[in-house]
Order: sequence, then C-alpha cells, then structure tokens
Amino acid sequence: MSGIYSIRFRLVAVFLAIILAVMIIISFFLYTTLERYHINNLRDSLNRAGLLASDFLIGHLRGQINSVRLSTLAENMSRQAGARVIFTDQQGIVVGDSLRVGGLLNQQLESEDIFSALNGEMSSSVSYSERIEQNVLQLAIPVTEEDESVIGVIFMSASMEGVYSTLQDIRSFLFLATLLAMAVVGGGSILLARRFTGPLEELTTATRKMAEGNLDQHIEVYSSDEIGRLAEQFNIMAKRLNYYTSNLKKFAADVAHEVRTPLATMSLLTKSLKEHDMEPEQQKEFIEDLDNELERLVALVNDLLELSKLEKNEIEREEIVLNNLLQSIVEENQYRYAQSGVKLIGDLAEQTINVLAVPLQIRQVVVNLLDNALNYTDAGGTVTLSLYKEGNEAITTVVDTGCGIPEDDLSYIFERFFRVDRARTREGGGTGLGLAIVSEIIAKHGGRVWVDSEEGTGSTFYFALPISEE
Ligand code: ADP
Repeated sequence: MSGIYSIRFRLVAVFLAIILAVMIIISFFLYTTLERYHINNLRDSLNRAGLLASDFLIGHLRGQINSVRLSTLAENMSRQAGARVIFTDQQGIVVGDSLRVGGLLNQQLESEDIFSALNGEMSSSVSYSERIEQNVLQLAIPVTEEDESVIGVIFMSASMEGVYSTLQDIRSFLFLATLLAMAVVGGGSILLARRFTGPLEELTTATRKMAEGNLDQHIEVYSSDEIGRLAEQFNIMAKRLNYYTSNLKKFAADVAHEVRTPLATMSLLTKSLKEHDMEPEQQKEFIEDLDNELERLVALVNDLLELSKLEKNEIEREEIVLNNLLQSIVEENQYRYAQSGVKLIGDLAEQTINVLAVPLQIRQVVVNLLDNALNYTDAGGTVTLSLYKEGNEAITTVVDTGCGIPEDDLSYIFERFFRVDRARTREGGGTGLGLAIVSEIIAKHGGRVWVDSEEGTGSTFYFALPISEE
C-alpha cells in the first residue's frame, strides 16, 4: 500500500501542505507588521531630532545666512540622528549640508518631500539612493515662523540598512521555524499514518489470503478504536467462515459416505440378479432388498432437502394453538402405531397454549420424534405425547418404553448422521438426520430441545417453545 495513492502518503502530504500554508500566512503578517513598526520607529526618531533642531534653526534662517555655521550644525545633528541632514532656505536652495565633500550646498533641491515641506506640510518617503546604493528613508520638516510662514526646510535621509538587516534576521528565523514545524509535523504524521495503515495493511493481506482459499486467518488487535474494532470483527468473521466451511466440507463428505453404502448394496444386488439364474422366490427377495435400499436413498434425499430448506430465509411464523396441532398428529398416527402393536397416548393440557410458529415445521418435529419412538419401541410398548405449560414455555414430551439410548451417545444424538451403534441396527435404516432436523427447527423457533434416556427402559424427548403473549 505504497505510492502516491496510499493513505499514508496523502495524510502526510495534507498535513505538510496545511502547516506550510499556516506558516506562510503567519510569516506574511508578522513580517509586514515588523517592517511597518521599524520604519515608523526610524521616522519617529528622525522627526524628533528634526523638531528639536527646528526652533534652533529659526534664528539662523532669519537674518544673514551663514552656510559654514549651518553645515557644522547639520554635521552635529547628523552624528546624533544617524542620518544625512540638509537645511534649505524658503526657495529650497541648500544652505547647510552635513556632507562636506560632494555636498549639495547652494543647489536647488527638487523632490516631492521638499515641495510639500515648502508648502508647510511635513513629508516622508522611502527611495533608493544611488550614492550609497541603499534604500533610504527621507523626511522633510518645514521650519516656520510664528505666523506659519515657511522660512526653510530640514531634510533628513537615513539609511534603512539597519531596519532591513533586522528584518532579514526575522525572515531567516521564520524560514527555519517553518522547516522545523514541517519536520515535526511530517514525522508525526508519518507515525500517525503508520498506526492507521499498519493494521489496514495486515487486514488487506489477511483478506487476500482468505480470497486465495486460506481461511484460517487471524490478525493482532492493537487498539480499541474504529480500526481495532474492524480488526476484531474481521477475526470473528474469519473464525466463523472457517468454522462454517469446514462444517460444510464435513457435511459433504458425510453425505457422500451415506449415499455410498446403499448404492454399493444396490449395485451388488443388480449384478447378482443379472449374472445368476435364481429361483423366482429368491429373485423376489433380491428385488425387495433393492426396493428397501432405494427407499433409504429417497428418505435421505428428502431429509437433506428438508435441512437445506431450513437454512434458507426465515418463513413467516403465525400464532397457533399447540394443543390442536398435537391432537391432530396423535389422531393421524393412531393407525400406524396400532399396526406395529404400539400404543399411542395423547396427554395434552386442557388449557390452550399458544405459540408463534411455522405449523408445518412443528408438525415435522413431532412426526420425527413419533417415528423414532415407534421405530425403537417393540410391540406391546407405549408412546405418550404430552403438552404442558412451565413458566412461559410450552413443553412437549414424547415418552417411549423402547430400547433407550446409551449414556455415552446422549450428547451426540442431535448431530447430523449420528446413529447409535447397536448390533441390532434398525432394519429399515434411518438417515441419522431426523433429530438434526428437529433440533434445527426448534432452534429457529427460539426454543430448546433435550433428551432423557435409560438403556432398556425408554427415552423421553422434550422440546420447549416460548409461549406467545395473547
Ligand atoms: P434416524 O433417522 O437414524 O432415526 P435420528 O437423528 O432421528 O436418525 O436419530 C439418531 C439416532 O438416535 C438413531 O439412529 C437412534 O439410534 C437414536 N434414537 C433416536 N430416537 C430414539 C428413541 N426414541 N429411542 C432410542 N433411540 C433413539
């Protein structure tokens, strides 16, 4: 999961872009504020120096102007203010210049700032000085009489070198801070992304392996956040899938095994019939055996169909009176039981008991239990079907006086294809699916099923269904 489409890459890229944008915005505002602050500071200090000199200058500009004295004065002021200082008369002609060599003495100064100052307005600007090859801050202050008339101008020009070198330091500092912030955020987001994507990569690998058929997958769960929960759910799903698949494989193998025996017998019987001359009596016997095996196969297929039907979507349940359903089953089976010499008794509660159920499925459960009871009870025995209420459950029991079930086998009795291994295995040959169907139907109805049995005495099968609220 690498490359520019990976979550890890995108997460880191987004974090870096955000931090870069934030730092650029902060730097821009900080830089422009500091630049303005420093220029204002410089202008204020020039202004203060100019205003201080202004009063003093009035006297010198009023009478006979002495350029030498004024230039000395400009020189002193220049030293204090750290700027070049020029004085002009009311025509803008230079009468004093702190720059002695190459100064502008007696020349007409022509600049916007001077014009404004000659008109009584203080003015300042930033411009590039060819002479010192630097940006300079210029400030022109009018020198006025009491009647506001302008009699000269103090013109100062200070290098902005100091300001810009401070700002340069700040710029380097901001650049370094941006780099540092990006390194920290970049590192942090890589770690964070790894924490997120690590388990996702494990999940991807595990699901790929499952898709390849290797269902036995488990991944480590490191956290209890959303991703941790996803990993946990994945483990549960993988375990279930694995369980169901191996169950299905076992089931398929069991079915094949169940089908093989009757088919082998039938093949043998057919060959014998074909190859040997037999008495009609013997032939009839063979054909009867064939018929029995076929019946076994049909019963097996029917039970398998029944089971697969149960696994499909749930059928709508309806409210039924269980007493009536059981009563009708008792009546329907009376004849069959009588034929085998077994007594069938219905002992049903007087009070009506309602349950929410699929009637055909409950009928199937009872018929399977009655079939077994009849099959495993010898002539002269009794089978009793009872219904009673216990708490909020309807309990149905099928009690027989048959051969019973060995204790060791009791816990396997509801498994598919399980048959009690008796020397006298039933002649008719059950499918071993009857009780599995019973248990599945009852489970689907939210009920439970269990058995009591004693070998040689008989068995009691129970199933309990929740009674529905009327
Ligand atoms: P089958 O089709 O073989 O009857 P079941 O699933 O209905 O399959 O029963 C499984 C096994 O449980 C049977 O083979 C039988 O050995 C035993 N069994 C079921 N019911 C009874 C019973 N009422 N009395 C004794 N044994 C029983």
